[in-house]
Amino acid sequence: MSATTRPLRDPKQDQVGLKNMERLEQQRRQKVARSRSDDKDMDTPMNDDQYTYPKTPKTARYNGPHQEKIYKNPNLQRKFNEQEYNDSEQILISDQAIAHSIDTSLPMIRIHCNPSIRSKETGVQFIKDFMKYIELNFRNEYPRHKDPIGLDQWWLQDNGNLFCGVTDDIDFYMYLCDVSHYPSSIGNVQIKLEPPKQLPAQNSVVIKFVPTTISKDDVLDEMKLRFSSIFMVNEMIGTARSSARHIRVIFKQQNEYEKIIYDGKIVIQGLILDVDEYLPPPKILICTKCNLPGHIKKACQSPYIICRRCGQDKENGDSHTECAIRCQHCGGNHISTDYKCPTIGNFRKNLLDKLKNNTDKLPAHVRMYIPIDCRKPNDRDRILTSSRRGYSAPHPPMTTTNNSSYSPTKNFWTSRQEAANASMSKEYSAIREFDNDLNKIKRDFDEEKNRINRLYEKQIETVKKGWLILQQQIRAQNECLASMQQVISTTIDCSVSLSTTNNILCEFVKTVCRDEQKEHIDSMKNTNGVTMTHLMQLKDSFQREMIQYSTIMHKQIELYQLPMESIFSSQNG
Ligand SMILES: [Zn+2]
Ligand SMILES: [Zn+2]
Ligand SMILES: [Zn+2]
Repeated sequence: MSATTRPLRDPKQDQVGLKNMERLEQQRRQKVARSRSDDKDMDTPMNDDQYTYPKTPKTARYNGPHQEKIYKNPNLQRKFNEQEYNDSEQILISDQAIAHSIDTSLPMIRIHCNPSIRSKETGVQFIKDFMKYIELNFRNEYPRHKDPIGLDQWWLQDNGNLFCGVTDDIDFYMYLCDVSHYPSSIGNVQIKLEPPKQLPAQNSVVIKFVPTTISKDDVLDEMKLRFSSIFMVNEMIGTARSSARHIRVIFKQQNEYEKIIYDGKIVIQGLILDVDEYLPPPKILICTKCNLPGHIKKACQSPYIICRRCGQDKENGDSHTECAIRCQHCGGNHISTDYKCPTIGNFRKNLLDKLKNNTDKLPAHVRMYIPIDCRKPNDRDRILTSSRRGYSAPHPPMTTTNNSSYSPTKNFWTSRQEAANASMSKEYSAIREFDNDLNKIKRDFDEEKNRINRLYEKQIETVKKGWLILQQQIRAQNECLASMQQVISTTIDCSVSLSTTNNILCEFVKTVCRDEQKEHIDSMKNTNGVTMTHLMQLKDSFQREMIQYSTIMHKQIELYQLPMESIFSSQNG
């Protein structure tokens, strides 16, 4: 693949790194000092204005900086020393330089405070109030981030004017890099984030061979449609060709970074472009006192601070912001910490050789880019990675894909560039946590389902009982009505026949009685006739009504029965 011959390194970043080497070195020194706090030869790095606190139990589970592992591992140190260069012409590649070169821990966050934080108590109150403010908004923006958030270390610098902190949580770090997430003040302290000068290697991807016809902003616009957490889009100047260059994209959220790495492709203006993880080149340790690579200021032999521009004593009274640039190492027209300098360049080559020859001793998480000038003519290996045996990379949590760009040999997890153990255990604990959450949700759901089913069955049972009682009632009422109907009909019939008998009797009595009594009997007979007619009418209307009632009742029973039977049958079936 042609990409193997093209440099991925971002020289701009190297420049940024150089400019901040002093700061970086200071930071690294503090870390080293922290990890070597039991070393009696070293002075305590903290002056009266600096406070450092032991890790809280919350953050103690994170591993310390990578150096810690190397310094504390006597075997590793010995192995490196055995192969130390003996050639006096070459600058010794110290363990410190090795540790520094592969250190990918996140830069520190620096916050300017006004008025300055003078006491430990004020500092503690400040960070408590600050975290309270930050956490609330952070949780809203990163709903999937369930881990506790906090700093691994914090301390005060510059007489309390600077609040500094480090974290290895990339999501939290990216959140803290955004100035819009800061309030203007915490309590009565006005705060201002010092914009980070170094870009993190984490959460960074490279979109390869983007045609020059597509601008950086075009890439940003199209990516914004698919990703919500883009932190920065940068052209990688060292990769520029006449028709294309690589573009580096940094994400604020790790899950979006993981998604694009997993996809391995992105479509910009209809073109399918390859996406790869961004690998940082190994960093060069340069002394801030004498500008030579390979050691720190504390170990420096130089009697005075040497100007990076002119190579003279920085305290000789000249203005060293305007002095003539002449490299102290080679006399060239560049500052003495420039990667262009053969001294720095050679050191870098030697360092890379040493790293490449000792890949079995590298921590398992290391994945770095080998700059093209540090490769042998036929050496096409552009990735520096640990060859430690017995280390097996965990597989990505997704199922296999046909996407050819996603090579199965590529280690999905180590691309995070985090401390191996901390990262792995964090990933695994996150996966486990997620798994547990899923199981819990499933259990809760099943329990709820069973509860609802039981309730439903109970209710159906009650309805069934009610329905049976209702049916019995209706039947009893119908029987009662039927017998009443019969009684009433019989009574009417009897009354009618009694009236008839009465009429016959009246006729008979008329033949035997006196004339004055006949009139009385006639009126009795008339009354009897009226009663009989009334009874006959009553019987007719009663019978009609009974027929209507029974029709309605049958219809009602039918209406009840249909839904009830369907409920009972569906419950059984
Ligand atoms: Zn030095
Ligand atoms: Zn100077
Ligand atoms: Zn030079």
